[in-house]
Amino acid sequence: MILLNSDTETRPTEAMRRAIAAAEVGDEQKDEDPTVRRLNERVAALLGKEAGLFLPSGTMCNLIAVKVHTQPGDLLLADSDAHVLRAEGGGAALVSGVQTEPIHAGDPGRAALAPGVFGPEALAAALARVQALPMPYAPRPGIVCVEQTHNFGGGSVWPLSTLTTLAESARARGLAVHMDGARLLNACVATGVPAAAFCAPVDSAWLDFSKGLGAPIGAVLVGSREFIGRARRYKQIFGGAMRQAGIAAAACLYALDHHVDRLADDHDNARRLAEGLAALPGVTLPYGKPATNIVFVDVAGTGLSAGEFVARCTAAGVRLVPAAGRVRAVTHLDVDRAAIEAALEAVARALA
Ligand SMILES: *Cc1c(COP(=O)(O)O)cnc(C)c1O
Repeated sequence: MILLNSDTETRPTEAMRRAIAAAEVGDEQKDEDPTVRRLNERVAALLGKEAGLFLPSGTMCNLIAVKVHTQPGDLLLADSDAHVLRAEGGGAALVSGVQTEPIHAGDPGRAALAPGVFGPEALAAALARVQALPMPYAPRPGIVCVEQTHNFGGGSVWPLSTLTTLAESARARGLAVHMDGARLLNACVATGVPAAAFCAPVDSAWLDFSKGLGAPIGAVLVGSREFIGRARRYKQIFGGAMRQAGIAAAACLYALDHHVDRLADDHDNARRLAEGLAALPGVTLPYGKPATNIVFVDVAGTGLSAGEFVARCTAAGVRLVPAAGRVRAVTHLDVDRAAIEAALEAVARALA
């Protein structure tokens, strides 16, 4: 089976497993694990923030960041297809009691931007909708979340200039700015913009190590020392504090050393995959050529639903995933160019 359903399908390499086996460890819950401490410092420096906090998942990074930045009843604004709104079980509402206001694809200024990306005009329009009445009727501002790269937007990249102007206007309106950077390093490799530059405009950000970076577990949330101090308390409360977590952090350090530059291969493979899929009768690319490692195809023209298309491909040995009426494919380090070509042949056979 060729696993193109997600970049979470990466398995730790032999060399990564050796790094895991050799890890120096301590009690992470007491902040005494030397490998976790090294990882936190390294990611904080890479993203240009004062401090970092190792967490079990990206979902917990978003959960804790929203909790630290908001009070119950505050507004959380994000793209209507943002992971934090669509794929985290309503955790922000459950844990932080925030009121969410989606920023829609049709909001002002968005037509000129990539899917999932929005600027100050769209933010202003969303706030005008939800804060039409004066205080004390309108909900208080809380947080705006941006996603770099944007998963359900087809791996689209927020340009630095858009991010900067959005963050300035958000802060002027009393909002904290949080970056879901699950695939931030894909954006860096695709554009050449350093991670610290992308993170300079935001208050908090995080990286996921269990996706294209190829580690089995882990994410690191970064921000000011004060923010991370408060985040550490919620990590404990939510049951995210660990013990000898250096065995997991060692894989993340290994990934930073060995699996970042190669993300460019995933982007090349995604472009080849997109081009090959779009050459099939009835298959189109709703978002055009992929910017990073995520490919969305529209299969309506094949006469099959997204679910039927995916089922046929699975039977032919290629796992894809239906997403919002379309089909998603994601490239990663366990799928090389030969596997991409084999997948394209298998999908063509499945449709024939
Ligand atoms: C995967 C993902 C998450 C959640 O990360 P987990 O490590 O799976 O909990 C959050 N945001 C985006 C954009 C993602 O792709």
